[in-house]
Amino acid sequence: MTASDTATALPTLDMDVSLSVEEAAARHAASGLLTVDLDAIVANWRLLAGKSTPAECAAVVKADAYGCGAVPVATALAGAGCNTFFVATLNEARALRPALPEHAVLYVLDGFFPHCGDVYAAIDARPVIGSLIELAEWDVFRRRSGWRGGAALHIDTGMNRLGVLPAEAEGLLPRLRQADHGLTLVMSHLACADTPDHPLNGRQAAAFREIASRFTGVPAALANSSGIFLGPAFHFDMVRPGAALYGVNPTPEADNPMKPAVGVEARIVQIREVARGDTVGYGATWTARRPTRLAIVTAGYADGYFRAAGGVDGVRSAEAVVAGQRCPVAGRISMDLIAIDITDLADKAVRRGHMATLIGGGVTVDELARHFGTIGYEVLTSLGNRYHRVYKPAAAA
Ligand SMILES: *Cc1c(COP(=O)(O)O)cnc(C)c1O
Repeated sequence: MTASDTATALPTLDMDVSLSVEEAAARHAASGLLTVDLDAIVANWRLLAGKSTPAECAAVVKADAYGCGAVPVATALAGAGCNTFFVATLNEARALRPALPEHAVLYVLDGFFPHCGDVYAAIDARPVIGSLIELAEWDVFRRRSGWRGGAALHIDTGMNRLGVLPAEAEGLLPRLRQADHGLTLVMSHLACADTPDHPLNGRQAAAFREIASRFTGVPAALANSSGIFLGPAFHFDMVRPGAALYGVNPTPEADNPMKPAVGVEARIVQIREVARGDTVGYGATWTARRPTRLAIVTAGYADGYFRAAGGVDGVRSAEAVVAGQRCPVAGRISMDLIAIDITDLADKAVRRGHMATLIGGGVTVDELARHFGTIGYEVLTSLGNRYHRVYKPAAAA
């Protein structure tokens, strides 16, 4: 039997007939599908790189590339010409390094972890040094080991999270007279980049410009995704977008310039009729106002579909796309299941085994984030690991 025989022999899904037998079987068995469009991520990176020229456009792939998969995402971006990658933790760096081209630069945003110098050296990862203590420890390691790999210096300009103070950074300036000072980047991070009118943006940019300009010969980086859209005064020598690569709107007050990169579908395991006046789900928060047809789908809060989006009487709930139409969520979100009101669909429009689209088909990560009471970042990083992942490859450049 060929792959296409298998695919057509199982009538529940519109399967791509080019799939292998194993892949077709895996998709039939999956409760949900998480589709990551690497071509869209590459297109998003190119758009951000174009907006930031002549600054270098790096890529932030922490938290498993915001849930999209750090290895496939970084591989696709490296193929498109991205040369600098940021992860949060040392273990993320360890997992990613073997997938990167040798020339790629890899920074660890959380900084230098005590007693781990040899790990940074083994994988040629650069810590983003966030305090004088870290810098001292890093220097001890370099002196003892002879390791000559670089590090970034993080300077805090108003976030009050990680980073040395500008005055502390100033105290480090004499270090630049050493041929081997080891600093390959100075950076800071914006607290309010998604709010263009916030006065802190200008204050942070000015403070960073002043101190960074004194680190002669060391490239400087300030902007995250939203920071890129604040204009050239925020671009410096390198930009560090994360969320926008994955389709989150970096300009929340305007239309989203990015392409959606993530799709989520969940399987309809049952279709049931509910009488008028009956309630649906835990807590009986949702009442059928008419004879109602429900699609029960296999995803829930354990898959990152927040309980906050549940359907409550009198409140507009989140929507999913079923048979090409938007349909509201009915009742509370369970751990593994969601009920969707499909009463308005044509009778035979949908069957058990079909998929409902939870993200995609016009339902954006940002829209869902509003229903969840959070931001697109948390939607993506909460997606969970029960989905069968499908990667749409990046087209050759
Ligand atoms: C996460 C992070 C970024 C990327 O931010 P986005 O808003 O996702 O673009 C950039 N820089 C630092 C220091 C970060 O922690």
